[in-house]
Parts: sequence; C-alpha cells; structure tokens
Amino acid sequence: MTRIPRPPQAHLEESPTIALTDAVRKLAGSGIDIVSLAAGEPDFPTPTHVKEAAIAAVRTNFTRYTPNEGIPELVEAVRWKFAIDNGLTFDDGQILVSSGAKQSVFNTIMALCAPGDEVLLLSPYWVSYPGMIKLAHAVPVVVPTLMKDRFLPDPERLRRAVTPRTRALIINSPGNPTGAVYPKQLLEQIAEITAVHGITIISDEIYEKVLYEDSVHVSIGSLDAARNRVVTVNGLSKAYAMTGWRIGFLGGPRDLVKGAAMVQSQTTSNANSIAQRAAVAALRGPQDDLHSMQQEYARRRSYVLEQLGGIPGIDFLRMQGAIYGFLHIAGLSRGDGAPLTGTQVAASLLEHHRVALVPGAAFGDDSFVRFSFSCPQSTLQKGIERIRDGLRTMHNHV
Ligand code: PMP
Repeated sequence: MTRIPRPPQAHLEESPTIALTDAVRKLAGSGIDIVSLAAGEPDFPTPTHVKEAAIAAVRTNFTRYTPNEGIPELVEAVRWKFAIDNGLTFDDGQILVSSGAKQSVFNTIMALCAPGDEVLLLSPYWVSYPGMIKLAHAVPVVVPTLMKDRFLPDPERLRRAVTPRTRALIINSPGNPTGAVYPKQLLEQIAEITAVHGITIISDEIYEKVLYEDSVHVSIGSLDAARNRVVTVNGLSKAYAMTGWRIGFLGGPRDLVKGAAMVQSQTTSNANSIAQRAAVAALRGPQDDLHSMQQEYARRRSYVLEQLGGIPGIDFLRMQGAIYGFLHIAGLSRGDGAPLTGTQVAASLLEHHRVALVPGAAFGDDSFVRFSFSCPQSTLQKGIERIRDGLRTMHNHV
C-alpha cells in the first residue's frame, strides 16, 4: 500500500523575521547592495574574555553533555544575576539554562499549556510568541496596546480578555518591537489582575539592559502580588552580543521549571557546553563592553530620532528601551489615495530603495514597520537615508 504524502501540519509557521533576514542575506550574497535593518542582532563582537573562556573550554575538552538544567557554575551565576539585578530569589530546581531565550519561552509554553488553553498576548508582540503558542495547540488571545498609550496595556482591557481557559500572559518589557518599558505601577496592576485567576506570567526580559532616558526596568516576579506565578526569561544574546552562542535561561516556580526541563530533556537536552562556560564569564566577568554597548545604542537612538523627525505621513514614539524604531505609517498612501499597509511599505522600500525593514503584520499590527538600529553607524546612516527617501516618495494625503 502506498502512503499518501502529508504536508506539514497547518499550524506550523516560519518566523517572519528569520525568513526575511534569510531572503535579504541571499540578495546581498548575489551582489545586490542592500541595507538590512531587519534583524534584531547586536553588531558588536562578543567580549574578548568571554571568547577566551570558550576557547579554554574547548582546549580542556569541556565538550560533552552537561546536566540538562545547565552546568552548576552557570546555574549559580544565573541565580546570582537574578538576585542582584532583579530582586528575584531562586532555590535549587528553579533555574533552567536553555539554547536561547527563545527556547526558554517555548519550553515554558509547552510545559504549561494543554490544547485549547488560552495565552494572552499584548500586541504589537514579538513575532515568535503566537507561533509557539500554536505549536502547543493552545490559542493566542491578542490584547492590543495603542501608540497613544505609549504601547502600555490598558488594565481594563486586559481584565476583560481573561476567561476560565486563560492559562498564561506573556509580557515583554523593554518591548520588541515597541520600545515600551512598563512602569512598576502598571506591573502591579497586571500582577493583581492575573492573581485573581491564578494566571502564570511569562516575563521576557531579554532587553533589560537596553534602557533610555530615565526608564527603569522592574521584574514583575519581584512584586508580592505576582510571587510564585512568574517565569522570568532572559539570556545573553542581546546584553553580551552573543546571539550565535544560543544561551538563555529562566527562573520560576519549581513545578513549572521541572516541566520546562522535561520538554528540554526530550528535545534538545542541555545547551552547548562551550557556550555555557562562556556564559559564566559573561555574567561574572567585567561588564565594560556592556556599558559601551549601552552608550552606543543611546547614541544611535538619538541619531535615529533626529533623522526621522519631520517626514510627512509617519509618526513614532521616543523608544524607552530595546533596539528598534517602530514607525506608524498610517498617514502614507499611494498616488491614488489608497492607504498603504506596513507590508506594502516594507516591500516598496526593499524593492525600490534597497533597505530591509519588517512589516508590522509580523507583530500583529500592519500599520507599522520596524527597523533595528543594531548595526554600525555607516550602515545605519545609509539605511535611514534610504528609508527617508523611500517614505518621502510615498504620497502623503493626510
Ligand atoms: N525575546 C525577544 C523579545 C526577542 O526579541 C528575542 C530575539 N530577537 C528573543 C526573545 C530570543 O533571544 P535568544 O537569542 O536568546 O533566543
């Protein structure tokens, strides 16, 4: 009997930003002069002492499986980091090291959700959350946040979205793509709303170290009203320019961390042994590179804000954190007056102006486009000039 080939399951989706970055890489590889501001990846080299730690790990044959939850020195360094940076105290069995913060979020969702459970998401959201929720056969329930509210969620709207099936809420402050940083008072309200229903909060804090002006990062897990209901996710990709090393981690309630560790033990097992040694050096070693990166991001942000001012038909906020510009393009339209979507604006910028941005559709709101300013100044300058030229040619009929 011949088997009928079956296509991959319909709920599988490729990450739109990864797909776009790959496509741009191909174009650039074929010799086309293209500026990519699509990927959210620090352009700085990994700090030297971190690389040295990895080289030493290789030289001493630290190249085998490690405990699933991570090597004890790294688990200890993460525990220490959570305590001093975030006011979070974790005991044995409450920390799990994974292959990137992405895997940390995924492990948590898989451990937490049964088919049909609802997970609250605040849009515009990071691209991968809905895809991960669907992989768990759970249901993403999107609660929009608005630019006029600085992309901070309206507590009442959030409260109304809760149902008996709500299992979790994902928050991401500082936020990708919005640059929003949630103030403590708002986090207290979120903690209180979710407490009533015992909802687990997954707090993705990967941009914790990239803050502007007088923004302050508060971990929701440190608030009394949320204690024991929060899985705090972080990683080394952004703060230590270590995207390719794939080290992320989480801390949370023991039973949930145990579940997340089971998911990991059946899929990837431990994170890379060499990268784990490097991660200990990153967390415990000198933080000078981090500080110079922070200063550089602040400088680039100011440059971007200055350069984008005064372009008709677009609107944006002064981002409070992270590494993205998020442009509201609702005032742009075609020659015939029809409004343009983020997808159309991004396609036109790529085709006619050779600059790659991500359409807002990827984040749940296609009246925006996102660009990253984590690239060298010369690239940024060229990219921003192209964006400016491109947007100016899209007619403004407002
Ligand atoms: N969360 C957010 C909000 C991100 O923007 C990213 C990276 N783009 C990640 C998680 C994943 O980070 P990692 O490289 O540690 O998997």
